[in-house]
Amino acid sequence: MFGNNSLPSVIYRYGAKAPVEGGEAVRRQLSAAHRYRNVLVEIEHRRRECVAAAVRQASPNLDRLLGRVEQLTKEMATIRAAIKQTNQRTRKRTRGTPEQRAQIAAIGAELKRIRAEIKDAKAAAYETDDAKASLKAIDEQANRKVKEARAASGLYWGTYLAIEQSASQFRRGKTPPKFQRWTGEGRLAVQIQGGMTADEAFACKDNRFRIEPLPVDAFLAGSPARTRRTIAHLRVGSDGRSPVWASVPVTLHRPIPGGAVIKWVYLTKRRVACHDEWSLCLVLSDGEGWAKGDLSETGSVGIDVGWRLLESGVRVAYWVGSDGDYGQVVIPLAAIGRWQKADDLRSIRDQRFNVIQDQMCDWLAGRDGLPDWMIERTATLRQWRSTARLAALAIHWRNNRFEGDEAMFALVEAWRQKDKHLYEWEVNQRRKAIAWRDDLYSGVAAMLRRKYRVARIEDTNWRTIQQNAHPEEDGNAQTKHYMRIAAPGRFLQAIKISGMAVETVPAKHTTQRCHACGAIVGFDAKANVWATCPGCDARWDQDDNAARNLLASGGVPQQSPVPLEC
Ligand SMILES: [Zn+2]
Repeated sequence: MFGNNSLPSVIYRYGAKAPVEGGEAVRRQLSAAHRYRNVLVEIEHRRRECVAAAVRQASPNLDRLLGRVEQLTKEMATIRAAIKQTNQRTRKRTRGTPEQRAQIAAIGAELKRIRAEIKDAKAAAYETDDAKASLKAIDEQANRKVKEARAASGLYWGTYLAIEQSASQFRRGKTPPKFQRWTGEGRLAVQIQGGMTADEAFACKDNRFRIEPLPVDAFLAGSPARTRRTIAHLRVGSDGRSPVWASVPVTLHRPIPGGAVIKWVYLTKRRVACHDEWSLCLVLSDGEGWAKGDLSETGSVGIDVGWRLLESGVRVAYWVGSDGDYGQVVIPLAAIGRWQKADDLRSIRDQRFNVIQDQMCDWLAGRDGLPDWMIERTATLRQWRSTARLAALAIHWRNNRFEGDEAMFALVEAWRQKDKHLYEWEVNQRRKAIAWRDDLYSGVAAMLRRKYRVARIEDTNWRTIQQNAHPEEDGNAQTKHYMRIAAPGRFLQAIKISGMAVETVPAKHTTQRCHACGAIVGFDAKANVWATCPGCDARWDQDDNAARNLLASGGVPQQSPVPLEC
């Protein structure tokens, strides 16, 4: 999507406002885009079912094996439930009687064996001619359905291309894609085939994308911000052969680079707390001589990424360059306070919600003659966890007042107004914290890019690690908290976006090997920053050591294009 693979792309994101013209067309396209994506999810679900059925048909044993897995899983669950019950009754935390433990172990072993058999049976089934023919037919049918859905979607083509592009991930992985709820959010896309320079966009002649030109002094120092505000027009459909335009106010806070080529234009609408936020993204290809100035042609840097709590803050990365220079990226404690503030606001909102929830429940309990809608909508009020749900009730109530509701309505309405204010504040605080952090990261990445051409990093998937972190199991709820703040994945993304050539190094031993003598040092990597090598008595900071190991290792160039999020 981001230009062709050989040319790296960069996204320029500009703040925008709701369309001043073509707003209805935009709303319809956003809604159609949402529907189209869900239809693609449905097609994929169906395709997976058909594939599973075809594989079962092609394999004589698969049905029996799958049935056995189901049976064993049930047996296992029954035993586990019995253990849990006993534990609750005796108020102990046991793992069951020796007999139960033996049963669980036996079932576990059989499950493991059968799952291996299933894997083999499936692999064999895929190789049969029957299955191959069925799978081909299933694929063709799915593709045909996608084409029909596309034709019925009424979407302008840039937008459906963008959706199909992201839907191409649907087939990967074990879990099928999920349906999405309609929130009014979404993204429209215009593909600029052949590309377009900034000058061509400002000329306002093209039938796909136009920007009304800025005054000549717009980017001179001291020019007021209003000189950089303009209107962008993007095509969101066709009326016969002529374009249907959406016109959005946009602030070009930085110029579009002269030599850059615009490949895609996105208009994005997001819901942030209680308001909508619009932005205009330009995907620029920098293939043709777009001046990058003072970037280094040589040198490499080993970057050890990962969070670590220091006295001064959270360390996110440590780097050592081929020129001997080194440094670290730390989010200072003062900055962590920004996240703390957002969390505090959240907890104030939770408390206020609990109070009003109790008041409202008590009020409802002692009351006759309530309107039906109130009785229905508040039936499960005591279990509610969502402030948005109560706010929606308050808004409905505002337009459906009834006899004797004055006092309680006033309380709920006062709660709602204050909560809205706190919600906006909380979200804003969090976004400011994130923006500050991302700014820090891109600053460091740009600095490194000016010094080095190649970055060597560990081949760690931070997103998976973050998702799989179970703070309750670590016995340390702070783990996830600090990881969320540090977001090592975001730092890596900044490194990739900076344009450095990224090479990955297998994670094995980068932290445990002494860079000075090569000895493998067995120590607790988490507990201590400093370690002494038993081989050579060198004393080093673990992250510094890891960065030196990364720098020294021959990395593998990363092939995949940068996963950019707009
Ligand atoms: Zn050593």
